Amino acid sequence: MSETLRLAIQKSGRLSEDSLNLIKECGIDFNKSDNKLTSKAFNFPIEFLFLRDDDIPGYVEDAVADIGIVGENVLAEKGKEADVVEKLGFSKCRLSIAVPKDFPYNGIASLAGKSIATSYPKILGDYLKKNKVNAEIHEISGSVEIAPNIGLAEGICDLVSSGSTLISNGLKETEVILESQALLIANKHLSKAKKSLVEQLLFRIKSVQRAKNSKYILLNAPANSVDTIIGLLPGVKSPTVMPLAQEGWVSLHSVVKENEFWEIVEKLKAAGAEGILVMPIEKIVI
Ligand code: ATP
Ligand code: ZN
Repeated sequence: MSETLRLAIQKSGRLSEDSLNLIKECGIDFNKSDNKLTSKAFNFPIEFLFLRDDDIPGYVEDAVADIGIVGENVLAEKGKEADVVEKLGFSKCRLSIAVPKDFPYNGIASLAGKSIATSYPKILGDYLKKNKVNAEIHEISGSVEIAPNIGLAEGICDLVSSGSTLISNGLKETEVILESQALLIANKHLSKAKKSLVEQLLFRIKSVQRAKNSKYILLNAPANSVDTIIGLLPGVKSPTVMPLAQEGWVSLHSVVKENEFWEIVEKLKAAGAEGILVMPIEKIVI
């Protein structure tokens, strides 16, 4: 029988939707019903296990799942053995220390002898040890941000994305301990056949990721400004240039990085470009 890859993803939470979308964008079709813990894809040898994110590193280490999608924060906290196959670029957040606004904070040493509430005792413990700060770690499983207000701890160590939760609880962020995003992780001892399936999946993921950061650009320009415009558009290899019906004009097609587009658009116009169209790209295979 041919191999099936078992992929662990978060059942419901902040990683779930983006994880499932990524799989769909890789052209892998499946049905997910809310009450089922597993599901098989129709057109790729992959089976999904829907789990709590905290359990994913352990399941991957123990080979219950072959691969998994989990936050760097959870992988680091659980201290389980797994290979990081790829950073996936979503669920970005940071694990930070925060204290009440009026706390006289002058660096991490200010927390010596204080208590810090967190759901990340391992990461925080390692950080305090590395900085030679002796503080009490108060482990709680949720609503960490209210701990100082209810007198449970003097500081907190929790996940932050925009920081608005901290502000609304009267806290200020003082140290970033870990920058996190979703990771594709794999069991360290996969069979050759499973490794090859992971490679196939990774190839698709990379094509999708490349496309996400890029846009297809079409523009019209006077033929004599083509060299200047090509200089502004690095493209995948070299732009396509086609003559227009109107003499002395060409149509130029290329690929631009999403974040570079706004920087170069003024320069393109200054070089004589007109009718600039920018379109999404679904996949880029190189
Ligand atoms: P579970 O029930 O699976 O244990 P959970 O409540 O522990 O879920 P979520 O809040 O869904 O976890 O967060 C899952 C992961 O998403 C976090 O471990 C982190 O990597 C990432 N994450 C957390 N908060 C944010 C945020 N505000 N923005 C983006 N990503 C986040
Ligand atoms: Zn969790």
